[in-house]
Amino acid sequence: MTRLPHPDTLAATALGWIDRETDAMAAPLRPSTSFLRDPAHLDRAGRMFTRDDNPSYQQTEAVINALEGGAGCLLFSSGMAAITAVFQRLAPGDHVILPVRVYSGLRDWLNLHGRRWGLEVSYLQDYTPAAIEAAIIPGKTRIVWMETPSNPTWVVTDIAAISKVAHEAGALVGIDNTVSTPILTQPIRHGADIVVHSGSKYLNGHGDLIAGAAVVAPGREDLLSDLQVQRNHYGAILGSFEAWLLLRGMRTLALRVRAQSAAAMKLAAFLEGHAAVAEVLYPGLPSHPGHDIARRQMAGGFGGMLSFRVAGGEAAAKAVASRVGVIRQAISFGSTETVIEHRAGMEGPDSPTPRDLLRISVGLENIDELIGDLGQALEAATIQKETGA
Ligand SMILES: *Cc1c(COP(=O)(O)O)cnc(C)c1O
Repeated sequence: MTRLPHPDTLAATALGWIDRETDAMAAPLRPSTSFLRDPAHLDRAGRMFTRDDNPSYQQTEAVINALEGGAGCLLFSSGMAAITAVFQRLAPGDHVILPVRVYSGLRDWLNLHGRRWGLEVSYLQDYTPAAIEAAIIPGKTRIVWMETPSNPTWVVTDIAAISKVAHEAGALVGIDNTVSTPILTQPIRHGADIVVHSGSKYLNGHGDLIAGAAVVAPGREDLLSDLQVQRNHYGAILGSFEAWLLLRGMRTLALRVRAQSAAAMKLAAFLEGHAAVAEVLYPGLPSHPGHDIARRQMAGGFGGMLSFRVAGGEAAAKAVASRVGVIRQAISFGSTETVIEHRAGMEGPDSPTPRDLLRISVGLENIDELIGDLGQALEAATIQKETGA
């Protein structure tokens, strides 16, 4: 096997593919829905119908697959479509284990549709190998799910240790790698069987498309055909243009993720020393409970996402979020611009997220302007609290 280039090279060159017809270095867009059948036999010549046979997918899937060190990748219409395809493979009575702090869309989906489907779902507060071992139901537990660092408190999970426990019980290890990206963590190397992404975040990186992807580990090619059938039957397919745009976005993935990680580290250090901040949650800080695992498991940075708890509680947190200027108040993450969000408010009344928590996705702006902006917002909120204004 030839050695793959460094991920930076891999992303920047998108594997160096060229268009055979024109020698174009950038991928062509191929929106055709239908492909000619063999003229002599009216048989299937190659491709037939583009639902899950779209040539615009090929290079995008190949790049994500190479970045993750997988045996194959499938694009989906969204991150949720990729994730739910993994769970929809299961049968009534099957059991799955997840951390309490998991992407809220998946929690909502499992609680509504997963349970109606007959899935048994265990959410664990502490996601340690011992806790998972205790929660496993022999012969019934099919999936052990991870998300690391996890939204929105950035809990770090030990992928290798948990994969070992899950595999001993015959369960599949699935990981949502949206936050870390393959630039910082390649879960398959640590034992994961399947890695999913919301391509809407860092992979695309420009906040202008919704996409998802699932990558399977070498040796688990069986999952690939399974998921492809799911994608074809449920129809959660990506548009040609989105596949093309995602490929374009990924060319700067390594550069963006490293810059955003470095800026997040600086922002976290600034916040940690601030009097109006009760706690900073960022895996790059030595004070973070997951720091040691993150150091082992992540390379080249700790990601562009951080959260902090405002000393004055929920009202003060909301005041801070409403007083930023350069930073803007918005959902989502992984784009070029920095956004802040009161997460519990978005997740709804049964959210386990602390009410005084603000989540930040660090973009690519000048770091001193970001620090200055947060500084003035924190000060204004502190003054408001002190004077009761
Ligand atoms: C956004 C997100 C998803 C869902 O992805 P969509 O593309 O919005 O469907 C899943 N997991 C994580 C961690 C996310 O941030």
